[in-house]
Amino acid sequence: MATKLNQLDLEKYNLDKYTFEELISEKELNDRVKKLGQQISKDYKGKIPVIIGVLNGSFLFMADLVRNLNIDFEVDFLKISSYGNDTKSSGTVGLIKDISADIKDRDIIVVEDIVDTGLSVEFLYNRLNKEKPSSIRFVTCLKKPSKINIDGLVNYIGFNISDSFVIGYGLDYAQKFRGLSSIYNLNPKKEN
Ligand code: 5GP
Repeated sequence: MATKLNQLDLEKYNLDKYTFEELISEKELNDRVKKLGQQISKDYKGKIPVIIGVLNGSFLFMADLVRNLNIDFEVDFLKISSYGNDTKSSGTVGLIKDISADIKDRDIIVVEDIVDTGLSVEFLYNRLNKEKPSSIRFVTCLKKPSKINIDGLVNYIGFNISDSFVIGYGLDYAQKFRGLSSIYNLNPKKEN
């Protein structure tokens, strides 16, 4: 698939009940990620945080973010269960792959693709906090209005968006569309 979406791609994957529109362009993403990188570099000056990417969705955002940092850092990854092949949260979160780094007394920055209900952030915070790190902060590319209160935890937000399903820039629908360089809304077609 090309890095730009067109209606034929939706038909190819039996998504002809949906239309799409570009929500955040490649340029807007680049500009914002650069700003986040500058802010994080400033806040963590003199520290060596462990940056933990939440697979799969955060891989492009994380790759771009770390290239905009001018501090030393280490990386690790973990994987949690997500939407499966659906566009709605299952309401439960499970750990599929754990980190391997020793994070005791370390500054942790968790990189999320998108925060929706807030369940994943809450789950990850509780899981990582057990290892007694010095600090845990979350950075997310996108944030929907969360249903649970995680306000103090998500310190860096790329874009606040409304409550619709988005794809591209690492985000999938049934494992497709992750390579799109912009972020698109998938909107159900209106019945005539
Ligand atoms: P939460 O636990 O906050 O409800 O959901 C977080 C996870 O759900 C994200 O890391 C992502 O995997 C998935 N998710 C939430 N909203 C969307 C969306 O609009 N599009 C896609 N592709 N995944 C989403």
